[in-house]
Amino acid sequence: MTMEAELREKIATLTRIFAMRGLLGIHGHISAFDAETGRIYMCPGFAWDKATTQPGDLFVFDLKGNILEGQGRRVPIEWPIHTAIHSRRPEVGAIGHLHSPYATAFAAVNQEFRPVLLQGSMFANGVPIFPERHLITTPDLGERVADVVGGGRAALLRNHGTVIAASNPEELLFVSMILEDTARAAVEAAALGQLDFLEPEDMPANEGARLADRAQAAWKYFATLEARWDRQPPIGSVALG
Ligand SMILES: [Zn+2]
Repeated sequence: MTMEAELREKIATLTRIFAMRGLLGIHGHISAFDAETGRIYMCPGFAWDKATTQPGDLFVFDLKGNILEGQGRRVPIEWPIHTAIHSRRPEVGAIGHLHSPYATAFAAVNQEFRPVLLQGSMFANGVPIFPERHLITTPDLGERVADVVGGGRAALLRNHGTVIAASNPEELLFVSMILEDTARAAVEAAALGQLDFLEPEDMPANEGARLADRAQAAWKYFATLEARWDRQPPIGSVALG
């Protein structure tokens, strides 16, 4: 399989997995970057049916934001998030911009995210928040978001959503799930009392190696679930019976 075919397959699969998990819906988009060719493969944007996305549905952008393929489909208007970060950080092979509900809850209170579960220790240094209330629709805004992400794995966009930068699509899936799951735990635990946040020293020393291994296992797990996902459960049998 060529690199292009592999990246298209993975981004299409991950788009469907995120749809299955409620992390991509009417909003949000994800991309993969081929540093050899400078081509960015991105799922279509607003109101595209993420749950049935196939490799041939993807947009191809260059790093300047020119659309090389995909005309006629729903343009992901916040593409400057992807071009800005992929331009600066060639080691980032995959980026997600999600409006995932629980991580976005932290963006809705303009509060930096900190984990409250050990499984979220990769974020023990905190997830910074981009302070401007804008959709990221211009290269200038994309650059300012990339400033906030810096060399890190994620940022929150104020009153808006999240940005996740990962080595590859497998790690994008795992890191996004961890951020959302640990944000959900924090929101639910807040009803019980004061949150007991992890500290930077709670991040394991071998965090990078652990991440690569767990990301591959999580990919297999969710790809298996997605392959047997019933996209359209039968309805009406009770009402009509
Ligand atoms: Zn958005």
